[in-house]
Amino acid sequence: MTITLTKEMQQMKEMIRNFVEREVEPFAIQIEEEDAIPEHLVEKAKDLGLFGISIPEQYGGIGLNAVGKATVLEQLGRTHNGFVSLISAHTGIGSTGLVKLASEHLKNKYLPEMAAGTKIGAFALSEPGAGSDATNLATSAEKKGDYWVMNGTKHFITNGPIADVYTVFALTDKDKGAKGGITAFLVERDFPGLNVGKKDKKMGLRGSYTSQVIFEDCIIPEENVIGEVGMGYISALKILSEGRVGLAARAVGSSGKLIELSAKYAKERIQFGKPIADNQAIQWMLADMATETEAARALTMMAAQKIDEGKKVIKEASMAKLFASDVFNRVADKAVQIHGGMGYMAEYPVERFYRDARITKIYEGTNEIQRLIIARNVLEEC
Ligand SMILES: Cc1cc2nc3c(=O)[nH]c(=O)nc-3n(C[C@H](O)[C@H](O)[C@H](O)COP(=O)(O)OP(=O)(O)OC[C@H]3O[C@@H](n4cnc5c(N)ncnc54)[C@H](O)[C@@H]3O)c2cc1C
Repeated sequence: MTITLTKEMQQMKEMIRNFVEREVEPFAIQIEEEDAIPEHLVEKAKDLGLFGISIPEQYGGIGLNAVGKATVLEQLGRTHNGFVSLISAHTGIGSTGLVKLASEHLKNKYLPEMAAGTKIGAFALSEPGAGSDATNLATSAEKKGDYWVMNGTKHFITNGPIADVYTVFALTDKDKGAKGGITAFLVERDFPGLNVGKKDKKMGLRGSYTSQVIFEDCIIPEENVIGEVGMGYISALKILSEGRVGLAARAVGSSGKLIELSAKYAKERIQFGKPIADNQAIQWMLADMATETEAARALTMMAAQKIDEGKKVIKEASMAKLFASDVFNRVADKAVQIHGGMGYMAEYPVERFYRDARITKIYEGTNEIQRLIIARNVLEEC
């Protein structure tokens, strides 16, 4: 498939590629060691408009379509995944609910600052008892006059410790459950009763923070319901669907970067008197890495195009997420193998990509859940 980018989009793609190569990547080891993103990189990302890629121009963002967003996220995926996670959780699952489903009042109130990156967004669905089964929420919200009162605990929330606004899903009608009894809310960090837990210690994605977000009689104004009361589960599925295409695009970018690093290393590393790239065993690994990455890119862009055409994309988004994340893991494994012992050393980026690849098969719906979604659609269609 061919994706023809506009001149502006091509320029933006190159600008982001330069930004990640020249400005972010040199700080990757520092990010790993300090588990923090240098403030000047966050500021530069704000200046480049990266926090507003998915927010329409009328609210101060760049308002890219899905193909444009996937193009940007693929370029971002070429660098430190923790840095990218901060931006992609904000521009994806952290703001899609507001952009696509919220009232004009909420959009005007929150989106301009989110587009500027002065307010950071997060998405809070998962709970200790509700991971893959997101219908089993224990967090509840009860209507009292003009307010909702929320109680419960969300966990593993990306940007949890640093977010200013959370898209939160809570049970508002126990009897109806996921079929009309879950509602989405926009909850400000400063609303009384919202507390953030301590930062989780993770295998990778250093610099991207996750934590619990705890609601204890948290008071939420009535106007902060996103979409219709009771339609929150449908909203969550829609938000996650689009988020999965973004995650796939990032995985494609990371895989592409790993191929380049591996090919360069294979040409430079001499063993038995010749570059290891001269061995067919190495060439075959590179061939598989390149072929699978191209296929993942095609699947991702096909899903993005469908979003832009206004078509139902649940199956395609799951296919893109499933395939691109599996490919990223296989590519990272081969990249480490091609680098030999050096691939196991923290000073080489492949070690970091290898650890960061693992989460892509787990979050935004595990790959087992993606297979369930795809199979359900196939069975319905055939
Ligand atoms: C770093 C990180 C960041 C995250 N960020 C966010 C965030 O921003 N917001 C948010 O809401 N959540 C977030 N999550 C949560 C993430 O989405 C969940 O971890 C994920 O959905 C899986 O849920 P679980 O961990 O409870 O695993 P479980 O649901 O307990 O699954 C355990 C295993 O069982 C399998 N399994 C479960 N049910 C089935 C089934 N029916 N058929 C086959 N296999 C099944 C799973 O695939 C998995 O292999 C994050 C998680 C991590 C680790």
